[in-house]
Amino acid sequence: MVHPSASAGALLHHVRTGRAHSRAELVALTGASRNTVSARVDQLIAAGLLEEGGRGWSTGGRPPTLLQFNARAGCVLAVDLGVTSVDVAVTDLSAQVLATVGHPIDIAEGPGPVLAEVDRLAQLVLAEAGRTPADVCAVGIGVPGPVEFSTGRPVHPPIMPGWHDFPIPSAFARYDCPVYADNDVNVMALGEMGVAGSVEDVLVVKVGTGIGCGIVVDGRVYRGAQGSAGDIGHISVPAPGGRPVVCRCGNENCLEAIAGGGALLRDAQAAGLPVGSTRELVELAARGDGPTLELVRDAGRTIGTVLASLVNFFNPHRIVMTGGVAQAGAPLLAGIREAVYGRSLPLAARALDITVSDAPDLSGRLGAALMAIEGFLDEESVTRLLPADEPGPARAALRGSSPTR
Ligand SMILES: [Zn+2]
Repeated sequence: MVHPSASAGALLHHVRTGRAHSRAELVALTGASRNTVSARVDQLIAAGLLEEGGRGWSTGGRPPTLLQFNARAGCVLAVDLGVTSVDVAVTDLSAQVLATVGHPIDIAEGPGPVLAEVDRLAQLVLAEAGRTPADVCAVGIGVPGPVEFSTGRPVHPPIMPGWHDFPIPSAFARYDCPVYADNDVNVMALGEMGVAGSVEDVLVVKVGTGIGCGIVVDGRVYRGAQGSAGDIGHISVPAPGGRPVVCRCGNENCLEAIAGGGALLRDAQAAGLPVGSTRELVELAARGDGPTLELVRDAGRTIGTVLASLVNFFNPHRIVMTGGVAQAGAPLLAGIREAVYGRSLPLAARALDITVSDAPDLSGRLGAALMAIEGFLDEESVTRLLPADEPGPARAALRGSSPTR
């Protein structure tokens, strides 16, 4: 019986994320015996997932042989599906982008035409990266609406007409590999954690047209019972000036109806500001336009009052802001910080870090790639990729044995 923390999948994870670089470090990290670790490492090398390379520093005696993850053992498709555009990337197994392409789409055209376009783009990037469909180990896709993660089906997505209950994984049947679909905010949250991952508790808050939140607990995305955890856009907030605002969900005074990108644009146009899109509004604020700055800052305060409650409830290490409106940067952060630090309990707020994402454009693709890679290389899947322990017919090699959903 292998201790779970010393399974082949766990050992691979430690090397892949940079936590261990040699058999000795794996022994130290897992507490497993040298023999167990060596046998598992040999299996991972035989499966083409680990490689030996170079010598480490010796602390007396023979210097250890270094281990490295063979990120070229396969590739994944990463799809960041938005309301008006899609980005498709092919990455290696360390989420390094090999080729990527973006294209305008209209999500309201429905799953048929939109996923046909995604399929066309995927073939394009694969060819550009010099890979074939048979090289694809997993597909990850983020979509702008709630998704039942276990089946990859959107559930009454408000801005994706025609997508309800559509099995997104079925659109990738040509790849004969697992397909993981989740809502864009959860995917972005994974992207923000990066390849090395994290053990922190983090809220990743996307302020685009709508507002959503990816909840990361101990470095893992928390999805809740049905997968809708973090849907903070429809939390009720006080209406400015006491006049109720109707949300697209039908309720009044939802957070995103008052402080989302769509709401900002509505208010800016009502105030006579010369803006035709949220992007133009954010650019105007970035140039220091007074009235626009004030609108963005007000939105920050409103978002901050909700985040203050979340901070009291969840006590995160940090909050990362992302999405189109978050690119306004300073004025949004100022409003958010004012409300969060003013209203959170001192113990929760003392060490809390609130920042804007370093690469809001990339985190969707990176997160989709990481979701696919984590799924392909989770503990159970890795065990299936290994040569058999027992004498007998060898298991199928790396390519042929990937599980399908
Ligand atoms: Zn609502």
